[in-house]
This record gives sequence, structure tokens and C-alpha cells, in this order.
Amino acid sequence: MKTFWFMLLSGKSSFSLNVSCDNEDDLPELVVELLKCFGGYFVPITHEFKIDVFIRNTQKLRAKVVEYVERYKDNCPQVNKYNDFLNKLKDGDFFCLLTDCKSIGQKEQFEIDAKLFALNNPYIEPEVALEHVNELFGDFFYKYSIVSIHPGKKIKVGEPLKSKRICRFCKGSESSGVFFKHEAHAISESLGNKNIILNEECDTCNRDFSKTIEMDVDLWFKMHTAFFKVKTKGNKVPVIKGKNFSFRVNSFNDDSDFILTHSPDDLSVGDAFPKELSLEFNQGIVIQNVYKAFVKFSMSVISSSKIHLFEKTIEWLKGEGFVDALPLIAVLSTYDNFTKIPELYVYLRNDDDNNFPLAFGEFHYTHLRYVFIIPVFCFSEKEFIEKNEYNTFWRFLKHYEKYDNWSFQDFSNKERTQFVINMKLEVNSDVHQ
Ligand SMILES: [Zn+2]
Repeated sequence: MKTFWFMLLSGKSSFSLNVSCDNEDDLPELVVELLKCFGGYFVPITHEFKIDVFIRNTQKLRAKVVEYVERYKDNCPQVNKYNDFLNKLKDGDFFCLLTDCKSIGQKEQFEIDAKLFALNNPYIEPEVALEHVNELFGDFFYKYSIVSIHPGKKIKVGEPLKSKRICRFCKGSESSGVFFKHEAHAISESLGNKNIILNEECDTCNRDFSKTIEMDVDLWFKMHTAFFKVKTKGNKVPVIKGKNFSFRVNSFNDDSDFILTHSPDDLSVGDAFPKELSLEFNQGIVIQNVYKAFVKFSMSVISSSKIHLFEKTIEWLKGEGFVDALPLIAVLSTYDNFTKIPELYVYLRNDDDNNFPLAFGEFHYTHLRYVFIIPVFCFSEKEFIEKNEYNTFWRFLKHYEKYDNWSFQDFSNKERTQFVINMKLEVNSDVHQ
């Protein structure tokens, strides 16, 4: 069987597919047939076949691809993916096609995403934008290596053989009496992660984390999980029952999506339209545990060989204790690359330059992004709590500058406080008929 691999990438999704046939001689023709749908052409004099790497999604292109899919879908249902891929893009948006390629490295993926961003923002001259992007990422990738977790694929991190596993968090092994009977999710299942599994987390640590930091991070995102109908354990969207409210997806077949029931303290208000609602949850929350959870997720996806750099970090994660201050976390709300499955990127410094953190992470969930420094509690590294230290780090991340609505929030609070969501409700007096 002869096979030709290629990849399609957009800022939103990527996949690789192949064209294959039994007879080697038939392969070029089949490949050309497909690539012509994506704008490939023969140069008249040289008869060389050419195709652009960055291609615009036009109606004409989509029509050709639909025709191609119709021709082959019965024999090869995977070709439907071409239509799905293009339908997720806006008309006129660019995507990337890499020929003779089955997969690419994280750095290349990042660079392609960046180039696509530049191409898809026509208010910037493409050449200028590309140069700019190269400048931005050149330094960045020199300094940091990236571990990125693509939630679409099943990944098991760490040692597959149970008898050889050492728990990343307590250093226990089967011979020292811990078990690895349960599958440990690297990122909480309550946030919709089903695919990323950490082999090197023992049952005891798994249980301990689920009762502490994972409970708090679950609560922190609860409203988002329910509102965006994220499917969690058992493929169910959570129903929230708080002290004075409940929130659930409406299962009745009428026009509304959700039902919010509120029990006011003061019943005398009757049916009057409330101006404000305070939705009180049953449990309290320790905000520092949300920070710990981001770091715990990060510790769960880096390679085993790097874990020794974070010994003190893991002590902090595992212990009941908290620290007094942590660096700020940068928070962004954007619907670019909206995701119902958590995505995580961990950046590890390549050199000894302690003006920058040894590691930091980026966590994406629904429309929210969190950029957090992974604290190492080590004398040779800075803490990034002081404003100047933090600003040097933040200014280095020039590729974040494209968004101007970052906010910098303090997640150091170690006290358990009541978790309340305050809502303002307004009556729109402009009544449209
Ligand atoms: Zn353990």
C-alpha cells in the first residue's frame, strides 16, 4: 500500500489524512486530484505541480471539495472531514495545508497558528504581520520549550507499566504500598477532560486531590461548565444546587435554554422583578487552591524527566499549607478558539536566565484564559511577586499584546470564603415588537 500524508490546520482545528492505493503508479494522480481542489496547479512550462501552504477558504474552493467528498465518501468516509474542517472556518479565512507531512512539532504548530492569525486579520499588511510574528516568536521559542496538550486525542502521560510507576506527587510505588488501580485525569474530569490521563498518580494522591484542590477549581468554573453545557462525568452537564438557587439546563421542549430558580431571603418581594441576585453556593472556596489546581494540571503533563525541578512546588501542592503571596494570574476573556474541553500549554525555560520564570502555564477553558507562573520556591529563582519582576516577564510575552483586555488577579487568598456569584438584572425599557 502506497500512502501520501498531508495535514490541514486552522487556528481552530488540525488533522492529518492520507491518500493511499495499492499501485504505486496511481498515487501521484490521486494526490493531484485532491490537491487541485485546494488550489494546486501545474506550472505550464516546467510541469511542476504547485500548491500554496496558506490557502483562502472561498466558496469556489468549498464547492470543489464538496464534489470531491461526494465522489469518495462511500469508499472512504474520512473524506467528510474536509467539509467539516472548511465549514468551521469563516468565508475568506486562511488555513494551512502541509503536504507530505503526518504531524508537526509544537513550535511549528504555534508558528502556523500565529501566521494564520496574521493572515486572518486583514487590517495588518500580511508581510508586516508575518515579520512581526516572526520577531515575536523568535525570542520566545529560544527561551522556552512548550508542552501542549491537545484535548482531542487520548494521551497517557508517564510510565505505562504499573509495576514501574512512581507517583509524581508522593513518590510512592507499588513496592512501597501504593496502588495505581484508578485512572487519574491529568486535568479534572469535572471540567470536561476525558482524554488526558496521568499514569504517574497513585490512588491515594488522586483521592486527596479530588477532595481538595480539584473540588475548588470545579466550583470556580461551575457556572461556566453548566452554562456552556460542558459534558463531564457520565456525559452529563452539571446541575448546580446552591444555598439559595439552582441552575440547570432546561430539559423541557420550550424556548428557554436554562432554568434559574432563586429563593430570596426576603419573601415579601413576591413576584417583583429583582434588580440583583446573589447566588450563594453551598461550599466555600479557597482561592489559592484554584492556583494550585492550575499548577497541579501542569505537573501532570510535563515529562517525567522534568519533575525533579519542581520538588518544592509539589510539596506545596500536596500539603495542607499555603503560602502568603503568589504571583498574579493574567486572565483574559476571548471567544477566539473557544473550547469546551480544557487546553493546557506549559512553557519550560531553556536557559538559566532567572529574570524569567522557570516555568509558566496557560489554561484555556470556555472563553477564559489564565496565564500563571509555576512557583518553584527556590532561592536561585525569582518569585515574580514584585511588580517589576512580574512586568519584565509579562512584557516579554509580546504575542499576548494582541488582546487588550487582560486583567491581573490575585489568587493568593488562603482562607475558605463563601462562594457567591452576584448578578445584576436590568429591565430593557426599549421594547421591540
Ligand atoms: Zn501518590
